Amino acid sequence: MWLTGRLAPDHKTIADFRKDNGPAIQAACAQFVVLCREIGLFGSALVAIDGSKFKAVNTRDRNFTANKLRKRLEQVADHVVGYLRDLDTADRQEGEAAEARSGRLKEKIERLREQMRMLEAMEVRVAASPDGQVSVTDPDARSMATSGRGSGIVGYNVQSAVEAEHHLIVAHDVVMTGSDREQLAAMAAQAKDAMGVETLDALADRGYFSGEEILACEAMGVTSYVPKPLTSGAKANGRFGKQDFVYLPDQDVYRCPSGALLPRRMTTIEKGMTLHRYWDRASCQACALKALCTPSVERRVTRWEHEAVIDALQRRMDLTPDAMRLRRRLVEHPFGTIKAWMGSTHFQMKRLPNVKTEISLHVLAYNLKRVIAILGAKRLIAAIQN
Ligand code: SF4
Repeated sequence: MWLTGRLAPDHKTIADFRKDNGPAIQAACAQFVVLCREIGLFGSALVAIDGSKFKAVNTRDRNFTANKLRKRLEQVADHVVGYLRDLDTADRQEGEAAEARSGRLKEKIERLREQMRMLEAMEVRVAASPDGQVSVTDPDARSMATSGRGSGIVGYNVQSAVEAEHHLIVAHDVVMTGSDREQLAAMAAQAKDAMGVETLDALADRGYFSGEEILACEAMGVTSYVPKPLTSGAKANGRFGKQDFVYLPDQDVYRCPSGALLPRRMTTIEKGMTLHRYWDRASCQACALKALCTPSVERRVTRWEHEAVIDALQRRMDLTPDAMRLRRRLVEHPFGTIKAWMGSTHFQMKRLPNVKTEISLHVLAYNLKRVIAILGAKRLIAAIQN
């Protein structure tokens, strides 16, 4: 209102402005973060990174996967069988009413067959899609699981990095994958850049845990704090987990729970990662704890060539037990506020570039309101004018 001198453009003008000025809106959002940096609002080089799923303009019914299509085709086929049975019954009867009924049933069957043809055509599109799904209303929207059990949305995964001093959003992005596993380094790099710091501490939840991402962070001066997911099948089955094995770097061996030393015996490459395997069959054969350790001939321990990075992360996590509480305190408020502003439908625009503009506008508004609350409108206007 201040910027436009209390002009009151109608909603169409505003929508067109937003549609036609995507890059400028995103640049304004980034420029405001630069302004915040210049006026000294980023006290410490610490950010919390998080992702949240935002709904797209695409209902779940308009998103197709092979699984959903199979179930729907089965349902439609069942209905056709039911109607055909009814049609047989109607055909056996005589009179006008039976004839009318038979006509109605034929129409219904034809409509279902039409639906089947549509679903079969969709099956071909889904099979050709790189990630096995098609969204009809917004082709870039993706079906994603959310934290609620059994729930999911069709939408986008919005990433953000929030700084610790004034809880401003210093970096954000929108991605089309539900998983956060490959987002840590990219978000940390963006945050580091925006804050203009040489080194940065980044907190994230276990969904971001990835050895390669943590290594990439390390390489660019970002110290990450990410809890390790508890995925050990052995531990879940009541046997020793990998954390019960101690790596001795001087000897390049693992010391197992019974005190035996397991030397490195083999190296493999899996998904581009070099993995070393350690074991000692003779020790396992003679071990009194074997039942608590492995059902196999011997227990093998796998170590990634850069696992020292993960060991260092684990030590950091042990020394900073409050890191995850701080992370939650930083990230939950911005997403909650922005979602409340958006209402129950979240995004109004379609396609990834437009959705990126839309979220930039919200992030800009969020940061503006925060800075007005911190400095007051007059000081902020003065800072913009300088
Ligand atoms: S089974 Fe093997 S690896 Fe496991 S505790 Fe015994 S000696 Fe160690």
